[in-house]
Amino acid sequence: MALGKDYAHQQCSIARSLEVVGERWTLLVVRDAFYGVRRYGDFLAHLGAPRAVLAARLQALVDAGVLDRRRYQESPPRDEYVLTEAGLALWPVLRALGAWGRDRIPGTLPMRRFHHAACGTELGPGGECPSAGCPSHGRAVPPADIEMRPGAGLDPDPADPVSRALLRPRRLLVPLEHEPPAGNSPAAPVVVPDGH
Ligand SMILES: [Zn+2]
Repeated sequence: MALGKDYAHQQCSIARSLEVVGERWTLLVVRDAFYGVRRYGDFLAHLGAPRAVLAARLQALVDAGVLDRRRYQESPPRDEYVLTEAGLALWPVLRALGAWGRDRIPGTLPMRRFHHAACGTELGPGGECPSAGCPSHGRAVPPADIEMRPGAGLDPDPADPVSRALLRPRRLLVPLEHEPPAGNSPAAPVVVPDGH
């Protein structure tokens, strides 16, 4: 029997939040959106979730106002998914969840490390910049100002192109680069149609 989707007898705000982000894969979709993944095919390549499940999770996140669906190509029609303001507000939740796993689950190595892009300092336990000399000292760094760097747990040779692209240090929320199709001049610039 399938599990119920909601917590009918729970008025608690944690339960309400879990109705939006508590299903399997959902928070990983949101995580990938912070990493710059926007397209269905890229979520699929990186997550390995069943296609129908991924499509359902993306739709549910759009319905809940966490992701915004934008058309980036008309023929054939292709959409991308971008975090809304409500989605961006989930960053402290994800960061804290990752830190909890690293601190409390034995054998968990950090896959990625998060630094304040402006000064290069690794974020503190509360997501703040701990550098005494930084103008943002002690303040939580918003995702757009965070640089993600590879951590000790990251596979140095992943199979899928999305994971390979995410091996490089990169700013959160910047759309994933797409390598030009084979046959293009190596000097040709990579065009990233991001729909806005
Ligand atoms: Zn700083």
